[in-house]
Amino acid sequence: MTQTDPMQTVPNSAPLHTIDLIRKKRDGLSLDNREVAFLANGAADGSIPLEQLSAWLMAAWIRGLSLDETRALTIAMRDSGEKFSPARLRKVAVDKHSTGGVGDKTSFLIAPLAAVCGVAVPMISGRALGHTGGTLDKLESIPGYRTALTLQEFEAVLLRCGASIVSQTPSLVPADRVLYALRDRTGTVESPGLICASILSKKLAAGLDALVLDVKTGSGAFLRKQEDSEYLAALMVATAEAAGTRTVALLTDMGQPLGRTAGNWIELVESIDLLRGQRPAESEDLRELSLILAGWMIHLGGQAATPESGYARAEAALADGSALLAFLCMIEAQGGDVRAFDDPAGFHKPGATEVLTAWENGYISAMDTTKIGWAVQRLGAGREKAGEPVDPHAGIDFNTRRGAKIEQGQPIATLFATCHALLTEPIALLKEAITVSKTPPEHVPLIGRVFTRENAEIYLQNAVR
Ligand code: URA
Repeated sequence: MTQTDPMQTVPNSAPLHTIDLIRKKRDGLSLDNREVAFLANGAADGSIPLEQLSAWLMAAWIRGLSLDETRALTIAMRDSGEKFSPARLRKVAVDKHSTGGVGDKTSFLIAPLAAVCGVAVPMISGRALGHTGGTLDKLESIPGYRTALTLQEFEAVLLRCGASIVSQTPSLVPADRVLYALRDRTGTVESPGLICASILSKKLAAGLDALVLDVKTGSGAFLRKQEDSEYLAALMVATAEAAGTRTVALLTDMGQPLGRTAGNWIELVESIDLLRGQRPAESEDLRELSLILAGWMIHLGGQAATPESGYARAEAALADGSALLAFLCMIEAQGGDVRAFDDPAGFHKPGATEVLTAWENGYISAMDTTKIGWAVQRLGAGREKAGEPVDPHAGIDFNTRRGAKIEQGQPIATLFATCHALLTEPIALLKEAITVSKTPPEHVPLIGRVFTRENAEIYLQNAVR
């Protein structure tokens, strides 16, 4: 049924009323830029009551946001608070965002790799929530490391080291702070338009010139269906490009944890090993994905003609140790004690440890990565509610990968927990999560579709939603 839009006749200067905007969205109509900005600003300054914002969010979740509404919401949320300007860095500012995963520690490699190849990396990251880990929690396992910097301190670290990884300041994108917390409580998180505006508003408030998006697919991804991940990827590329930020999205496999480890300190140890030039077989997917993403950042940042030549530059920065120095520079500049990396194994002091061995012969044919993520969280590495402390030493170190041939009794993984009582449930979850079969599984490529400004709009025009 085609519906007419009564609000289009309202002159642009007429006062807006939240109830009209809720009813309009409820009835399946699109809000214009001024109306969307009215809602975002009302969320940020508290002038719209939470029950009205919740009603609009539910209407937006059910009806969906149009491309124009998504763009308008992203811009209005970006502009709802203070912003970072990278102008004084005198370099192209490029960041990477991942939609979240298990064992996803690429930021620790990508940030220094891109920085030493000539781009500035102002990275505003998040914390563990649900089954996915958080970059900030991992970094805070380094004694003294401060994630809550002022924008002036952030700039100083970027000028000194080329990269800085920090938490959101209280006044950066206040609209998202309010709307995200409401979405979490009202069952309105999984909406492509709302997710896109939430993620991009924070990235664009950091003043980025370019952005590389790592959109996860597979059993550990936030959105499980391939077509949903593709739609979100294309939507974010088209929206960020419309806001003036060069953007690319890569769909990448989260059908198993990325690399050998999932947890906090142990993920930093794995990253440092790679930055020191080691190449354990279990970390090969982490190394490869980090180089590919860094290659795109270096390319979009104007420091390589193609993503492939960006990859080659990143690989050289890994081999010559310069990326390791940039990472240690950032840690020291943010108050971290780099002596913890002199003897990473000695610094690792979990409360309890248990080795899980194979219960039959065969091949590891599938991993339920979301379940593995919950196992990691319940070992103490993640949190159930926002604000809870996490255990820096909890996590899982895997000896095997998907596709590996295993024999009964062979170690599969080592679990680290705060105390023995916390080991039981994660061990059961891990056994449920790992499927052992008589035949090897099919190979799953690490990188799937890539969306750029050239193909994202076309994809969206043809997408059936
Ligand atoms: N991460 C965000 O920052 N926002 C979302 O809506 C989902 C994931």
